[in-house]
Amino acid sequence: TAPILTIDGPGGAGKGTISRMIAEHLGWHLLDSGALYRLTALAALRKGVAVDDATALADQARSLDVVFAVEAGRTSILLEGDDVTIAIRSEGVGGAASQVAALPPVRDALLQRQRDFCKAPGLVADGRDMGTVVFPEAPLKIYLTASAEERARRRQLQLQQAGEDARLSTLLEEIQARDARDMQRAVAPLKPADDAIELDTTQLDIPEVVERIETLLAE
Ligand code: C5P
Repeated sequence: TAPILTIDGPGGAGKGTISRMIAEHLGWHLLDSGALYRLTALAALRKGVAVDDATALADQARSLDVVFAVEAGRTSILLEGDDVTIAIRSEGVGGAASQVAALPPVRDALLQRQRDFCKAPGLVADGRDMGTVVFPEAPLKIYLTASAEERARRRQLQLQQAGEDARLSTLLEEIQARDARDMQRAVAPLKPADDAIELDTTQLDIPEVVERIETLLAE
């Protein structure tokens, strides 16, 4: 079986960027598991499925018609042929994703789809429960954190670059609410695996984090 690196942690700790950079360096596959929850939520919103109808949502998750198209190093995400790369990143879809992700039937429905990403030459798996539930056998598990204040600041910068304005205090509240929901849910709560290595990125920039993880991987 192919080698697996799992990178878990709360939103805004830099998992997405860091996972993508490491996968590119190594030439490994990348699993953005959050995107699967976001796609399930978006598909449900578009079809008028209620975000608390567990059975209908699990069906939705199981039959998700999604393509991750990589072209010139960029991934486009197609839902039923429609490019939703940008649409799934909105705060609204993120909030709905975290509600949908709290339902056990939805998590079960996405389990095999996530495991299918593990192929030669290797996989970088980015999410909340990659090391605890989906790939418990992974030899290297990273748990990335950063203070909520720093994550809110990073999010604000990201929004500013996209030409959007948001108050720091509002972003901090949203981040804290999402953390609480992800950590307190009954199934697959956000927490480090027993054998995970924790990295606090509050004071580190992206290249420093990438270098530390690649050093651990080489050991
Ligand atoms: O990481 P991202 O913000 O894209 O994830 C969206 C939501 O999906 C998270 O807030 C979380 O509730 C859920 N999620 C999850 N398990 C994962 C990845 C994401 O529950 N492995």
